[in-house]
Amino acid sequence: MATRRDPLAPYRRRRDFERTGEPAGAPAAPRPRRRGLRFVVQKHRASRLHYDLRLEQDGVLRSWAVPKGPSLDPTVKRLAVQVEDHPLEYGSFEGIIPDGEYGGGTVMLWDRGTYVPLPSREGRTPRHGELHFELRGQKLRGAWLLVPTRRRSPGGGQEWLLIKRHDEAATGEDVTATRPRSVASKRLLAEIAWDEGGNVEKAATGDPPEEIQKLLAARPRRRIRHAGSVWTTQGRR
Ligand code: MN
Repeated sequence: MATRRDPLAPYRRRRDFERTGEPAGAPAAPRPRRRGLRFVVQKHRASRLHYDLRLEQDGVLRSWAVPKGPSLDPTVKRLAVQVEDHPLEYGSFEGIIPDGEYGGGTVMLWDRGTYVPLPSREGRTPRHGELHFELRGQKLRGAWLLVPTRRRSPGGGQEWLLIKRHDEAATGEDVTATRPRSVASKRLLAEIAWDEGGNVEKAATGDPPEEIQKLLAARPRRRIRHAGSVWTTQGRR
């Protein structure tokens, strides 16, 4: 099948798998549909904090970087910049990307589950390429829209809008603030960085300050000092 374009080539081109613990990924291969299509949201403190929404499609995870994260308020449209397709195995990745590598920083499995494609929105012609789907995750539920725009980000990725549709799951809760921990390990970003030898002070800027306070109260060995808006560690012992 040498003639088939490898959808993961851009993903692999950007990464040195000798240096990063991210998966190189098996060749893209659609899985049987009976277990449902996977979705994952990874909270990623790279040069900036963002949330990566990934939806399984045709054997890869189609991916968007959402700087402000998802909103449960249906009147809010969140910018979602499309990035390169990721391998399915990426949906299990939580840990450190070394500083200096592509996306260097800390990655958390913030939400995961399955999704179900929904028919086009009733009563209107969908924007070409628009995605309408129901999320069945631990934090994100109900109907969502991803609407492509004609704009491109400074980095060249197509800009989309991520919008929660009106339903019972549209609670308006500030879910990125109220549920800041990993669904896989229950850890904060700072704890993942600490455990895995990453940059704790950088990771901690992605955690709510009050969660860092609780962490320090519970684990006094983990001394993280708040200096202005920057958290700094005072040694790792
Ligand atoms: Mn990212």
